[in-house]
Amino acid sequence: MVAAREQVAPGEKDGPVQEQLFEDPEETADDRVSVLLPLPLGGALDYRVPDHLAGLLVPGMLVEVPLSGRTATGVVWDGKSTGKRLPIQKLKPVEALVDAPPLREDLRRFVDWVAAYTLSAPGAVLRMCLGGPASLKPAPVRRHYTPAPGVPDGLKITPARKAVLTLLADGKPRTASETAELAGVGEAVVRGLDKAGALIALDISADAPYPAPDPTLKGPTLSGEQAVAADAIRNQVWEGGFAPFLLDGITGSGKTEVYFEGLAEALKEKDAQVLVLVPEIALTSQWLDRFETRFGVKPIVWHSDIGQAERRRAWRAVASGEARVVVGARSALFLPFKHLAFITVDEEHDPSFKQEEGVMYHARDMAIVRAKLANCPVVLASATPSLETLVNADEGRYRLLKLRERHGDAVLPEMKAIDLRAEPPERGTWLSPILVREIEETLKAGEQAMLFLNRRGYAPLTLCRTCGHRIECPSCSTWLVEHRFRRELQCHQCGHVEPVPAACPTCKTEDSLVACGPGVERLFEEVSHRFPTARLGVMTSDTMIHARDTAHMVQQIASGHLDIVIGTQIVTKGYHFPNLTLVGVVDADLGLRGGDLRAGERTYQQMVQVAGRAGRADKPGRVYLQSYEPEHPVVAALLSGDGDAFMAAEKEARARHHMPPFGRLAALILSGPDMAAVLEVGRKLAAAAPMAEGVNIVGPAPAPLARLRGQFRFRMLLHAQKGVKTQAVIRSWLSGVKVGSGVRIKVDIDPYSFL
Ligand code: ADP
Ligand code: ZN
Repeated sequence: MVAAREQVAPGEKDGPVQEQLFEDPEETADDRVSVLLPLPLGGALDYRVPDHLAGLLVPGMLVEVPLSGRTATGVVWDGKSTGKRLPIQKLKPVEALVDAPPLREDLRRFVDWVAAYTLSAPGAVLRMCLGGPASLKPAPVRRHYTPAPGVPDGLKITPARKAVLTLLADGKPRTASETAELAGVGEAVVRGLDKAGALIALDISADAPYPAPDPTLKGPTLSGEQAVAADAIRNQVWEGGFAPFLLDGITGSGKTEVYFEGLAEALKEKDAQVLVLVPEIALTSQWLDRFETRFGVKPIVWHSDIGQAERRRAWRAVASGEARVVVGARSALFLPFKHLAFITVDEEHDPSFKQEEGVMYHARDMAIVRAKLANCPVVLASATPSLETLVNADEGRYRLLKLRERHGDAVLPEMKAIDLRAEPPERGTWLSPILVREIEETLKAGEQAMLFLNRRGYAPLTLCRTCGHRIECPSCSTWLVEHRFRRELQCHQCGHVEPVPAACPTCKTEDSLVACGPGVERLFEEVSHRFPTARLGVMTSDTMIHARDTAHMVQQIASGHLDIVIGTQIVTKGYHFPNLTLVGVVDADLGLRGGDLRAGERTYQQMVQVAGRAGRADKPGRVYLQSYEPEHPVVAALLSGDGDAFMAAEKEARARHHMPPFGRLAALILSGPDMAAVLEVGRKLAAAAPMAEGVNIVGPAPAPLARLRGQFRFRMLLHAQKGVKTQAVIRSWLSGVKVGSGVRIKVDIDPYSFL
């Protein structure tokens, strides 16, 4: 690393800056660079190029620069800085280059694009590209040992020394500690041998290279419709260039096999890289195994929970081009690929692709942008494509590839509704007699059943029977959810936990608190009473904390070690359980209550996905939907199997109301500790609302989640016609309103959550 030079402030006597100031006032274009810092600032900042870096700095390079008394790492950015242009003499100098690969042009344009679209600070977007602090330093080296060609004269060969030399004779370099452990000796023995000249020391990077996937391994023989889809993708990958596809195939139709063909094609090119985005990386153990079977190695996995060392290894390998395949959660979209040749977004409809904190972006939409900038094909795959994507396909922007049949002899499961008005569960239970009977039959046949209830915990509400008090979160406007396994009440918004009290906090009556409504834990209780000999598993984010928990559970189900699986939306995610033949949806109406714009669509998708777990192999599956309103269009569509008609009706309704994708939405979320101050800002914003043609503004109104982590929340919604430049309208709107320091405004372009 190059040492930073001392800065001479203008005005100091006889310094070189003074000379420049008075004798050489003309600066050349190379004297300054703009540097984007990974911080939520307005834009890039100008720095002076010191002599020792003259002519060396080009856009994309990582550099260290001074920033308010400390050193920060940033990226040399293209073009002029946005702020006030200071004279060159006032600029601080770039201090040093960072030993990391530069960010390439397509990634820099992506950062600019995402920032402009989401109205975020470019530095906040850049931050997502840098992979964490450890990534910016080269991997440390570790000393390894291998035997010297000949044993030095007079070396005393003790049994311990002999063990070491025998071990290392295989030629594989090992560290002192590895060698000592494997040879069953102390590390001092290894060091002694090194000192005596019997070993050669090698400094090897701590980051082992990733093995390359083998694209020439044979995949399965594809069916007719699979082959048609795979050919279309393969040809496009071979040809290159931006081209979006929608791979719309029913659950179990082989979408993964089809896009694997696209991956294989891309990997045939020597340095090409591919990215597969999946909704929740912790949930993809089966996917990883399938990948390994198909390509001979594990892919590189990227998500927010991986440790610093692994992040560094992956990030640098992506930047150097060594990492050929990355499978990751949405944040993988911001990795510094050297030559991105193909992107797949699997389960493109999944709500978790929308990031709701920090930079609020939709990874599926941004994947299209990234593919465009990288000039490569992109496949969006789903059994239940989002309405936005379907409309893009209808209008010819995406090429539609359809898979209509399940692989092999498997057929889609039969769907039936259980009308809970006619067939209610017994008091205090949640399974109707019909479903109970079906579970019995399934167990008798030696098959597996899955019960789906999208509610974590034991009960969503704890109520006092005496005074009616409901236990709420102290800092949010939510009820606390009882988690009986952990003997706690928990807020699912902020994470607050407290023990379940013995008496009502308000009226102090003992033993008066009752749990209302079911969560998966309560369902577990009922199922274990009803089926005492059945082997049960519960899959929720509370029990599946680490990827290995999920992997273990999935393995247990797939291998037949469990009879009944009870789970939240986790169980809907693409798993393949050959012996699972019955799916019971405990509350099919749940997602429709208090619904927003996409409640129907989302419920439909979720039901199809959970139903898609049943009957995936040779035994046909059955799905029961418990509902108080089986005539609801969502339930009706599920029963008739006519999803296309349902989505067509949804589309028609959205078009009629100019809702996305036929119109545009943007939400403003105002929050702060002082309700009056927040509301005041809302009123000012309403008064300054843009008068533009085709723009309508609603609010401020208290958010449904009116208080979160002690902050009061109000929402405003901008609804615009499709052609309106929403971002420009919002930018000028916000710039006209003064906001005090106690109020935060978050802008959510294309909101998915309306809480
Ligand atoms: P989807 O992703 O559409 O739900 P998958 O790709 O998971 O479907 O396929 C479902 C199952 O069928 C998987 O076990 C898969 O390996 C198998 N399968 C799909 N297509 C084929 C094929 N052409 N040959 C052999 N097995 C296949
Ligand atoms: Zn809370």
